[in-house]
Amino acid sequence: MRFLAHFLWSSIFIGSVQATIITDDLSKVVNLSFEFIVVGGGTTGLAAANRLALNHSVLVVERGQNLVDNEVVNDPFAFAAGTPSPCRFSMNSTPQNSVDGTYRSLPLFYGSCLGGSSSINGMMGARPTFASMNAIEALGNPGWGWNDFLPYMQRSENFTPPNPSQIEEGANYIAAVHGYHGPVGVSFARPFVAPVLQRIAKKTTQTVFGGEVTLTPDMGDGFSGGHVSSFYYQIHFNETLHSDRRSSSAWSYLYPQAQQRTGLTVLTAHQVNSVLTSASASGNIIATGVLVEPTIGGPVIMINASREVVITAGALQSPVILQRSGIGNATFLRTIRIESVLDLPGVGANLQDHIGLYNTSFPLAPYANTTNVTGGANVLAGIVVAQPTAQDTLGLKDATALNILLRNLSTEHAVSVGGVVNSESLATQAAVIAEAYEIDRMQSFQAPLWSINQQHIVDPFIEIFYSPGSVYLQVAAHTILPLSRGTIRINTTDPSADPTVDMQFLTSEVDIHAAVAAARRISLIAATPPFSELIAENALKESGVPDVNATEEEVRKWVLETYESDIHFEGSHSMLPKELGGVVSPQLLVYGTKNLRIADASILPLSVFPHPTLGLYGVAEKAADMILQTIDTC
Ligand SMILES: Cc1cc2nc3c(=O)[nH]c(=O)nc-3n(C[C@H](O)[C@H](O)[C@H](O)COP(=O)(O)OP(=O)(O)OC[C@H]3O[C@@H](n4cnc5c(N)ncnc54)[C@H](O)[C@@H]3O)c2cc1C
Repeated sequence: MRFLAHFLWSSIFIGSVQATIITDDLSKVVNLSFEFIVVGGGTTGLAAANRLALNHSVLVVERGQNLVDNEVVNDPFAFAAGTPSPCRFSMNSTPQNSVDGTYRSLPLFYGSCLGGSSSINGMMGARPTFASMNAIEALGNPGWGWNDFLPYMQRSENFTPPNPSQIEEGANYIAAVHGYHGPVGVSFARPFVAPVLQRIAKKTTQTVFGGEVTLTPDMGDGFSGGHVSSFYYQIHFNETLHSDRRSSSAWSYLYPQAQQRTGLTVLTAHQVNSVLTSASASGNIIATGVLVEPTIGGPVIMINASREVVITAGALQSPVILQRSGIGNATFLRTIRIESVLDLPGVGANLQDHIGLYNTSFPLAPYANTTNVTGGANVLAGIVVAQPTAQDTLGLKDATALNILLRNLSTEHAVSVGGVVNSESLATQAAVIAEAYEIDRMQSFQAPLWSINQQHIVDPFIEIFYSPGSVYLQVAAHTILPLSRGTIRINTTDPSADPTVDMQFLTSEVDIHAAVAAARRISLIAATPPFSELIAENALKESGVPDVNATEEEVRKWVLETYESDIHFEGSHSMLPKELGGVVSPQLLVYGTKNLRIADASILPLSVFPHPTLGLYGVAEKAADMILQTIDTC
């Protein structure tokens, strides 16, 4: 069926006029002129470029290849099957915090091809919350609160509502929250996967959280804190011709006929070395173009942009490009003999990632080995998902203690390693997080019509999700608003060299509390019926997950030994006031520049997107809108 869909799609695609130029041949690009250059043809880059190219000339430079026909990249089920993809790359972090003062390096995965990480990710769709977007706004970013941001997420979305049988099985949605005319396919898994596991997982989650975690009316309504849902949204096409295809940003914003743009040129297999700049009379720096070279090495050439350069190379790579361009911490840049163009100490700082507890697979009980539990052949990762609040997870007393800890957070370590530029930066971020965790559930608030009667307006503290499998059932967890802050620094001007990425995972006491609490809930789920009846008798012991009666020390040790990067890198060019280490303004302009913007995951000052993709499409849509408004008013 999938192959048939592919054949039909290819025929239509090839038989039609393609206005967008996609090429890896630099000679086809050098003589063209461009108003905008977008650096990185990934998740956000292709979305922003698509909108800008409606009426303007745009060049996208993408380091990776055009893998339009690659079956592994296109197949939504390949991710859960663990199939490696030609788009999937990784670099190692510096040694990270582990048990008893030891350290271990962690692989940090990213996508490098058209579509970027959206071409290899797990397609689990989640949105930020009302409370967390308002926290972003409270950090000095007017226009980024939930009510202002939601329309941009809707603009990108092409939502397929659940069908009657999915609704009967527990799929909920609120029609007004979604978008129906955007390019990104968002749907529930169809056919309904592992219905028995779904029912059991929801019931056990509610039992384990004392009934406080209730079924959500819609996991994307902004009020998911304290709720459990039958599904994530799945970011793949569910309807029509290209059913069962990953809805990467390439398949959403670039390849389809409806998205062809005469103004758009996409140069693949080439990387941007640095941004070219000049000084202006006002003292602000002007970005005039970029230096480009073949990814496999070769001559470097200059391409000009008459209006703006927009950086969308992702949170791990964007700071690398700025640093090579002389934009960053001037003292550090001097140590690698790069002349400073703009002293911005926040470039590459405030880096964050959720940490994931994935070493949590429980052997299936032999009698539970039915497709109603295992999901059968085509299974997507993550089915039932719960987002308990701090109070749900820790109880009232410990949640109150957490709040006090957040408001008096020790900032010394983060400052000493350069994770934040000063103590005030982290203290301010911790204070808005404390606020997001504690907003009173019954407080009256301004909200869109559909959520007036909502009671859970508290941000989630952790996320727990279940994935089916033929041998194991996984109950994974990840933290949501981490307080550990790391850095990205180049150590050479060679563009093919990996930067030094020091995530500083679990160096904040708050993050360890969250991870330990999540681990304890996973143990409890494995030991609580009806879920415990789906797994083998000694499953908890075999899994290595700590026993329900394990001491605090034992759980902490297991967490430190087994945690992983959640591959949700954010924050390395934070949208914050400059004195707090901010790199971009609320208009996403790099401070001190007239026309250099950043529009990828690096701009988020807090990791408010539990799974970043759907929120990042909102960022790209908003960025394009702000740029076009600037042009219109010029
Ligand atoms: C394995 C994996 C699983 C994930 N699972 C999920 C999930 O289930 N749900 C979810 O919501 N999120 C998930 N994520 C995270 C999500 O995909 C990313 O946060 C998001 O795609 C990042 O978007 P971006 O635009 O910031 O960067 P990217 O999409 O990574 O795009 C950056 C692009 O820039 C290019 N580039 C880099 N340097 C240069 C240069 N010098 N010159 C030119 N081009 C350059 C890269 O090749 C890449 O194509 C996952 C990520 C990974 C890696």
